[in-house]
Amino acid sequence: ACTQCKMESDLTEMKIGFIGAGNMAFGIAQGILMSGKVNPENVKVSAPSSNNLGRFQELGVAVTHSNSEVVTGSRLVFMAVKPHLVPTVLCEIAPLVTQQHVIVSVAAGITLATLEGLLPPDSVVMRLMPNLPCMVQEGALLFSRGSRARPEDGSLLRGLLTPCGLVEEGPETWIDAHTGLSGSGVAFVYLFAEALAEGGVKMGMPSALAHRIAAQTVLGAGRLLRDSGKHPAQLRSDVCTPGGTTIFGLHELERGGLRATTMGAVEAATERARELG
Ligand code: NAP
Repeated sequence: ACTQCKMESDLTEMKIGFIGAGNMAFGIAQGILMSGKVNPENVKVSAPSSNNLGRFQELGVAVTHSNSEVVTGSRLVFMAVKPHLVPTVLCEIAPLVTQQHVIVSVAAGITLATLEGLLPPDSVVMRLMPNLPCMVQEGALLFSRGSRARPEDGSLLRGLLTPCGLVEEGPETWIDAHTGLSGSGVAFVYLFAEALAEGGVKMGMPSALAHRIAAQTVLGAGRLLRDSGKHPAQLRSDVCTPGGTTIFGLHELERGGLRATTMGAVEAATERARELG
């Protein structure tokens, strides 16, 4: 059988667990189930309260209050609790983790060395940084393999997560930059979308309409950028008629230092991610 077919049958049969039932776990679960390759009966999620478990049940996923049950019943386990809780939860599950498990942490700032240090010596660990649009299958995800994770483990994770959006692999040193560019970058784009809409309101457009149009403008520009594969400067220049409206507007953005400010924002968020780590 081809490698792709083998991987797809691995995914169909693979037991997948989530420790933590928050927004990130839900976004990833929704994405992987949308693909139809993973059977919801093979997925189990744990959290101490029932507050967030209902929406997983609606996906057909089994729920429990026991992290141990998730670990013993799963091959691949997503660790999706807040970063400060990761050490406690890892100590709790460590006695149950075997070489057959693949542990994937999404906790911001928790390094592979920390994860490996808290688990048994042969544990297979990966670190994944998703972003919120995973919830609509348009996430940007970067993962890094720990010292015992093999390329096949990376391929398995990539195959599983592809329905969540763009999935890339890289060295751990890129994870903080990805957090600044893409994790926080989502909020930077929202700020820009809000400002676009307010510009429309200033020029006399009703607010609700201006916000709908701003959202569609960001979505359309993003899709065209991704699907054309062109450099953004090329697309920008394509819409600039000499002496036309766009170049007048762009001059204002350049005067306001939009590019330098945005680069500074990615840098500040990256540095902050490093500090938290
Ligand atoms: P969240 O919505 O607050 O969810 C945290 C979940 O952890 C809740 O379901 C909570 O249970 C559960 N939990 C608390 N203590 C637990 C324990 N001892 N054992 C098992 N589960 C426990 O958080 P989130 O936004 O999904 O973030 C989760 C992780 O994703 C964080 O480490 C964060 O760094 C990472 N991350 C988030 C984003 C993002 O955009 N949100 C992006 C990248 C990475 P209850 O349901 O009972 O409260």
